[in-house]
Amino acid sequence: MASSSIKAVRGTRDLLPPETDLWNRVEATARAVFARYGFGEIRTPLFEETSLFARGVGEETDIVSKEMYTWEDRARAASEKAQSLTLRPENTAGVVRAYIEHKLGDTGNLQKLFYIGPMFRRERPQRGRYRQFWQIGAEVIGPPTSGAESAVRDAEVLEMLASLLDELGITGWTLSVNSVGSSTDRPRYVAALREALAPIKDQLSPDNQRRAETNPLRVLDSKEETDQALIDGLPKIADFLDAESTEHFRQVLAALDACGVPYTVNPRLVRGLDYYTRTTFEFSHSVGLGSQNALLGGGRYDGLSEMLGGPRAPGIGFAIGEDRLILTLQAQAKAASATKKLDAFIAPMGVERNAAALALAKDLRRAGLSVEVGDGGFRLKKSFEAADKVARRIVILGEDEVASEVYTVKEFATATQTKVPKAELVEALQA
Ligand code: AMP
Repeated sequence: MASSSIKAVRGTRDLLPPETDLWNRVEATARAVFARYGFGEIRTPLFEETSLFARGVGEETDIVSKEMYTWEDRARAASEKAQSLTLRPENTAGVVRAYIEHKLGDTGNLQKLFYIGPMFRRERPQRGRYRQFWQIGAEVIGPPTSGAESAVRDAEVLEMLASLLDELGITGWTLSVNSVGSSTDRPRYVAALREALAPIKDQLSPDNQRRAETNPLRVLDSKEETDQALIDGLPKIADFLDAESTEHFRQVLAALDACGVPYTVNPRLVRGLDYYTRTTFEFSHSVGLGSQNALLGGGRYDGLSEMLGGPRAPGIGFAIGEDRLILTLQAQAKAASATKKLDAFIAPMGVERNAAALALAKDLRRAGLSVEVGDGGFRLKKSFEAADKVARRIVILGEDEVASEVYTVKEFATATQTKVPKAELVEALQA
């Protein structure tokens, strides 16, 4: 008896040629751009001690509380002890661990590190959301004397990302920025949020009721339709920033203006991970991603190194969802090839109409239109299929149309069908 075949695990997938060519092109472009900004590559292990993420990312985050692939690793020898390990769900914590472990701060220099590799989260799989996905990320981190805390670094990272997306040919991206304040502003804001949420909590969706308890900042991230009006009425983080955080944010925005990087300030952009301080940001794109429209996210994490037992080392970084970048590029290429279609496909109904079709095509082509001609031997359905592949419209040429010189024109994109007299045909097809 034949046994059933084994498939890739749910939420994971194979990447095959020719698609892998596109992945390689994206990665080569990222490497080239990173090199121009002085970044070097870091490769950290795919698994780490679970406590790294629990401490670095935060126990109450969705990632740590429900999405990590964690297992108890048995000891193999008396010299080893069993330990809890986790497939990395993100890589900022890993990079900062490496920064501390290798004492990279001792050089006194700013460290600019990038990585490309898979991450693992037990999320509900859908388009643009996988359980093994790829991130292209970078971190700028260093001792306070290296200037790692400066707003220049935030703006440089954002400007680099804008340049990278432009160089990759991603059009129509949008950048949202916000400041979540310092490690002292944030608890004051979270307290105010808790207070404002308490009386309205019962009116929120179950998910947001839970977040209001465990991680109130996450309520602001929520896309839950029915909760939006209530969320809009909550206190704004901007009103809780101290003078330094306010000034830092002002400098970041001024530098973005100077570099001509377009952005909008989104006071609700707090992002889910606990380590963020001051600047947070997200680049989004609407084409090809559906509801998973965040292309990349990041922010500043001035206290992370200390949270992981290291020296003071302010930093800022980001992670691009490479899967989503690829989906966006593919959707753009498809849209571009759709607009490259011919202006019209002339479909003669019956071989007796072939000559008239060719004559009409000649007139239209001389008027500068791009036109393909079908064959009267095709059935109507086949003509439509052939037309849809190569042209934006079909012009039907039946006995009545030839006699009356009024043609039936169907526009595929809008599925509208109109009758167009011959004298108006060129103009109608130019639209
Ligand atoms: P985060 O580490 O959550 O800030 O995510 C950074 C970026 O990684 C997001 O903007 C997404 O583009 C991408 N990303 C996060 N989770 C997934 C996932 N499960 N599948 C695909 N891409 C993801």
